[in-house]
Amino acid sequence: MAWFKKARKPIDAPAKGSRVPEGLWVKCPSCGKAIYNKDLAANLQVCPKCAHHFRMSAADRLRMLFDHAQFTELDAGLRSIDPLHFTDTKPYRDRLAAAVRAGGTRDAVIVGSGTLDDVPVVIAAMEYAFIGGSMGVVVGEKITRGAARALETRAPFIVVSCSGGARMMEGALSLMQMAKISAALGRLDRAGLPYIAVLADPTTGGVTASFAMLGDLNIAEPKALIGFAGPRVIEQTIRQKLPEGFQRSEFLLEKGFLDLVVDRRELKAILARTLRIMMGLPAPVIVRAEPAAESEPAEAAES
Ligand SMILES: [Zn+2]
Repeated sequence: MAWFKKARKPIDAPAKGSRVPEGLWVKCPSCGKAIYNKDLAANLQVCPKCAHHFRMSAADRLRMLFDHAQFTELDAGLRSIDPLHFTDTKPYRDRLAAAVRAGGTRDAVIVGSGTLDDVPVVIAAMEYAFIGGSMGVVVGEKITRGAARALETRAPFIVVSCSGGARMMEGALSLMQMAKISAALGRLDRAGLPYIAVLADPTTGGVTASFAMLGDLNIAEPKALIGFAGPRVIEQTIRQKLPEGFQRSEFLLEKGFLDLVVDRRELKAILARTLRIMMGLPAPVIVRAEPAAESEPAEAAES
């Protein structure tokens, strides 16, 4: 005989997956905790529990770095014309159209000009959601023009990389972008203007082999995958087991490939400080004094 009976029918278990409205919560792949989407966005896509850095869109990245999230987008209209008429599992032309429809960006980079802590600056941010953040002719041209704009306005240049490498659908034309961008960065260097490379997860292939590693400062986000070839290819080539943490930011910092590993929540402050030092501007003002009658701000002075 049972000790007690269930008098009422138990309530039905909710249908699988219907308990939480779709897209409101995200599970952190690092600590496994569920995070409310809005909390994640408010925390710059960094897990509040374990500091895992989720991928950030190029537009969010620019809004995070520019003052008051305001910037002027440069060369927004450039689009790939599929110069090789490339087809793999589907025509490249269709792939491009689908990527534009899905993400809202027209290629894998957004370039903007504006100010970062009152310092005029040009920033390019790569969009991983657009064909793996791959670098084709448009990405190369936009970054090159961004560098040219920085040179023209005597502003520092920052590129946030998030890319699987060169875009194979544009073949050798993609690879030429590596040299083209490097030459543009060389012109900035000769003009004495800072170029800072920020490496987000992942930064690999031809992007690592060119502008992502050419910064006066190379700054990475924590635990970002950074490399040229993938670990499996390297293991098969050298026939050796690779060390723990190989191709992650912290490992590369230790080996001297990077200058800093910076938590995303501190990135803007670190960039502001370093840009001011590099441009010979006064240190950031924490508490602004009342403006002296209509005087020019200090950073507008000739440097
Ligand atoms: Zn976490």
